[in-house]
Amino acid sequence: MARLVGKRTADRLAKQGVTTVGRLLRLLPRRYDTWGELTDLSALTDGEQATVQVQVVRAFARRTRAGRPPALMEAIVTDGAADMEVVFFGGVGLMNHYAEQFSPGTTVLLSGRVGLHHGRKQLASPRLEILEDMDEAEREALLARPIPIYPATEALPGMKVAKVVRTVLDRLAPGDVPEPLPEAVRSAHRLVDSLTAYRWVHRPENADQWRAARRRLRHEEAFVLQAALARRRAEHEATRTAVAWPVPGPDSLRADLDAALPFALTAGQERVGSELAAALDSTVPMQRLLQGDVGSGKTLVALRAMLQVVGGGGQAALLAPTEVLAAQHRASLGSLLGPLAGAGMLGGAERATRVHLLTGSTPASERRRILAELAAGEPVIVVGTHALLSETVQMPFLGLVVVDEQHRFGVAQRDALRERSLAADPDTGRRLTPHLLVMTATPIPRTVAMTIFGDLEMTVLDGLPAGRRPVTTHLVPWERGTWVAGIWRRAAREVAAGGRVYVVCPRIDVADESGAGPAADEDVVGSDDDLLDGLDGAPARPPAAVAEWAERLRAEPALEGVRIGTLTGRMGQADKDAAMEDFASGRAPVLVATTVVEVGVDVPEASLMVILDADRFGLSQLHQLRGRVGRGARESVCIAVTGAEVGSPAYHRLRAFARIGDGFALAEADLALRSEGNVLGAAQSGRASDLDLLRVTRDGDVIAQARVEAEAVIAVDPELREHRALAAAIADRLDEESEAFLDRA
Ligand code: ADP
Ligand code: MG
Repeated sequence: MARLVGKRTADRLAKQGVTTVGRLLRLLPRRYDTWGELTDLSALTDGEQATVQVQVVRAFARRTRAGRPPALMEAIVTDGAADMEVVFFGGVGLMNHYAEQFSPGTTVLLSGRVGLHHGRKQLASPRLEILEDMDEAEREALLARPIPIYPATEALPGMKVAKVVRTVLDRLAPGDVPEPLPEAVRSAHRLVDSLTAYRWVHRPENADQWRAARRRLRHEEAFVLQAALARRRAEHEATRTAVAWPVPGPDSLRADLDAALPFALTAGQERVGSELAAALDSTVPMQRLLQGDVGSGKTLVALRAMLQVVGGGGQAALLAPTEVLAAQHRASLGSLLGPLAGAGMLGGAERATRVHLLTGSTPASERRRILAELAAGEPVIVVGTHALLSETVQMPFLGLVVVDEQHRFGVAQRDALRERSLAADPDTGRRLTPHLLVMTATPIPRTVAMTIFGDLEMTVLDGLPAGRRPVTTHLVPWERGTWVAGIWRRAAREVAAGGRVYVVCPRIDVADESGAGPAADEDVVGSDDDLLDGLDGAPARPPAAVAEWAERLRAEPALEGVRIGTLTGRMGQADKDAAMEDFASGRAPVLVATTVVEVGVDVPEASLMVILDADRFGLSQLHQLRGRVGRGARESVCIAVTGAEVGSPAYHRLRAFARIGDGFALAEADLALRSEGNVLGAAQSGRASDLDLLRVTRDGDVIAQARVEAEAVIAVDPELREHRALAAAIADRLDEESEAFLDRA
C-alpha cells in the first residue's frame, strides 16, 4: 500500500482499517453527482447549486488566523464577463498545491453551492477539475461523467479518498483483482468481472456503469457471506457427528404424550414433527431454525423432539433467554406432559421423564441435586437460562439442545453447550455433538433469517391450532379522550361476560425512566427489538406505567367493583404466580402488566388486550402481546393506544400492526418500515455495519439466490480448493468484526 499511495496516506488509511488494495477498492462512493449545466457567472444567485467553467485571474494560499483548518486558498475566477471568488480550506501543503494549479489563465471546472461573502459571490470548497489540458471531446466526456462522492472519514477527506482510489485503479491490471464469483454465477446474472466492477464503481463514465458495478458488488457480497455460512455449516457436519435417535414407534414416550394430548396435532406440527424426527435419527448433527407464528405451537413441536431423545435414553436441554421465560417453558412442558413428567414420583406415569429448571436463582441445594442428576446421565429434560452454559453443568448424554432464540444468543453461546460433550469418535475422529434446534419467538423475514441464522437450515411451522380466532386490532390516539374512556367501558363488558383484560404498559413505574435495571430487563422478554425510545414520532412524555395505571383503573367508574391486579418482572416469583392465578381464575380479571405477559402466558378467557403507548414497542413485541388473546372461544380484540403523530414512522408501524394479523406478513412489513441499522443491529449487534452494499430490506432475492448458489459451490468443494479467490474473500471480509459475529467469542 505504502508503495502505491505513499507512506503518509497509507498510514492514515491503515487507521481506518484499510490495509490492503482490496479493502481500499471497497471504500465505495456514497453517491454520484454530475456536473451541472455550465452556468454564466452573472446569472448565479445565492444558495444555488452551480457548475461553472472559468478562468483563473489570480490565486494565493495563506495560513488562517484560527489555525483550524490551518490554511486556505483564495482565488478570483472569471467567465470573461463577470468574476467571482473561490475559497478552499485545508492543510498548508494542499493549499499551496491548489494555488500552484490555479495559475492565472488556467481553465477550471468548479461545482458547488454559491454563497455570499462580504457581498460578493463565492464558491466555498467546490469540487474541482482542471480543464487546461483537455480538448473539446474530453471536456464533453467529463461533463457527462458521474462524480463519485466518497464519505469523508476522520482519517481522510472524501476528496482524498477519491484520489487515492484513482491512483491505485490506474495501476491495476486484469488478474490483480481476485474474482471471488464463479463464472457460472456471473454469467447467470450477467455480472461484470471484479476489475471492471471496481473501475466502474470508482470511475464511471456514465450512470449505467456504476449501476452495473454496484449490482455486481452486491451479488458478490451476498455470495461471499452465504458461502461463509454454508462453509461453516459444512465444516460442522464434516468434523462433528451426532448420536442418531431412532424415530419413536407406537410404544414410546412420545407416543404416550400424543395419546395424552387433549387435542390433535395440527397438520403443520405433524409435518415439522416428522421432519425433525428424521433429522434426529441421523448421525449428521441437526442444525435447524424453526419459525412459526405466535401460538402456532412450537413448544409442543420442541417437546416431541426432546422426547425422541429422552425416550431413547438421552438428555435434552431447552435454553431460554430470561428466567421468566425459562420458568414459563418449564411450566408449559410440565402441563403438556402431565404424569409423563413424573418419573420416579408418586402419580408419575410408568414410562416417564422429568423436567428440571436451572437458572441463576435456583437455590443451591436444588441446583446441586439437579447437577448431580444431569451428571449421572439421567434421561431428563432441563430448562434453563445462561446458567445452563456454565462449566459446572455436565450432561454426558446430551442429545438435543433447543434454543428459544429471541435473537439473544450469539452463535458461540449457542455452541457453548453443544461443545461440552465431546468425546471424539474413535473411528472417524469426529467429535460428538448434540443436535440443535433454534426457535424464534415470532417470525422474522426470510432474508433476515438467512443473514442472521444462515448457518442453520430453515423449517417453517405453518398454520394455527384449530379454534384460534383472528384478533381485531384498533388504534386509539390518546387525544381522543372519549375513545380512551370507551376502552374501559368495553373492558367492563368483557369482564361481565366472563372475559379477561390485559392492560400492558411500557414501564413499571413512572420513576423507571430508562427501563434499565434487572427487573425491567426481564420485562422486555421476547423482544427482538428493545423498547423504542419514542424518538421517531412519539411525543416526549413519560410513558404509561403499571403502578400509575393500576391506580387510575381502580378509580375508573366504568370498572367499579372489578378487581385489578398487577404483574411486573420486579415482583417475586410467589407474587407473580399469585397474580397470574387471580387473573386466570377471574378473581382479578383485569391485569395491568409489563411485557412479562408477552410470551407464553396462556389464559383462554382473555379476550381484550389493551396496549398503552403502543408506539413504544417493536412490531414483533406487539404481535406477541396480541397473541395473548384469541386463544379461547371468545371473539377477541386488541387495542393499541398511542400518542404517535399521524404520519410519523411510529404511526405507520402501528397502522401495519392493526392491518396485518399474520406474523410472517407482519415481519415483512416491519422490515420494509425499518431502517437498515435497526434490522440487523437489533437482532445481532455489530452485524449491520458489515454489510456494505447489501440491504436485507431490498435485496431479498439476491440473498436467496446467493444462498442456493453458495451452497452448490460448497457442496462440491467444501474446502474451496478450487475457489481460492472466494476463500480469500471470505477470510478478508470476515475479518475481526465479522468473525466476531460468526464466532461470537
Ligand atoms: P408458540 O408457537 O407461540 O410458542 P405455543 O407453543 O405456546 O405457541 O402454543 C400455544 C398454545 O397452543 C399452547 O397453549 C399450546 O398448548 C396450544 N397448542 C399447541 N398445539 C396445539 C394443537 N395442535 N391444538 C390445540 N392447541 C394446541
Ligand atoms: Mg413459544
